[in-house]
Amino acid sequence: MKKAEARTKGLNSRRGLTEAERNRFDASIASKVMDAVSSAKVIGCYVSFRHEVSTHELIRKMLEAGKQIAVPKTLPDHLEFHLIGSLEELKPGIWGIPEPDNDRIILPSQTDIMLVPLSSFDEYCHRTGYGKGYYDRILPECRMSIGLAYECQKCGLIETDPWDQTLDRIITESRVYLKQQPE
Ligand code: ADP
Ligand code: MG
Repeated sequence: MKKAEARTKGLNSRRGLTEAERNRFDASIASKVMDAVSSAKVIGCYVSFRHEVSTHELIRKMLEAGKQIAVPKTLPDHLEFHLIGSLEELKPGIWGIPEPDNDRIILPSQTDIMLVPLSSFDEYCHRTGYGKGYYDRILPECRMSIGLAYECQKCGLIETDPWDQTLDRIITESRVYLKQQPE
């Protein structure tokens, strides 16, 4: 499947979930993520917006568990990660997405795990984002990447470009996918 088609399908399916479904799925995903990050110290995590798998409660729980959490600021051509103490310190940035406003910048290579949003995925952990390649640019520096998604965003095999980064793992409300080679 072409990336553009996968992106549209994933975003439309995600938009079709009811609020009750989203809440239930978010809780299930957050619980699996807490297990996955148990031995990590520094975690990069997107701040969810609109219909993305919610990370707000998850970020609160990870901070409570003593994790160092870095969230992205969207610059014109790259994501810059800043450590935060709480979600309350975030301010609306580009497109209204809450973002950090401090000088506690860390490099993607300093994170133990990077939690990544996506528009669609396939069972081989191929990912499409929102068409700007932001995560394709930082993931090569990250030690470990985990995509957060709803099962309805899953597509058939996605055709990838040379710059597309396969995720190490994808967590949905019902399954965990691990990176593997298509047969
Ligand atoms: P997404 O991954 O967000 O769905 P694409 O994979 O279609 O989006 O990438 C969008 C654009 O970002 C492409 O035009 C691509 O050239 C650019 N891009 C992706 N990765 C890099 C990179 N490592 N360096 C420079 N440009 C990149
Ligand atoms: Mg890409």
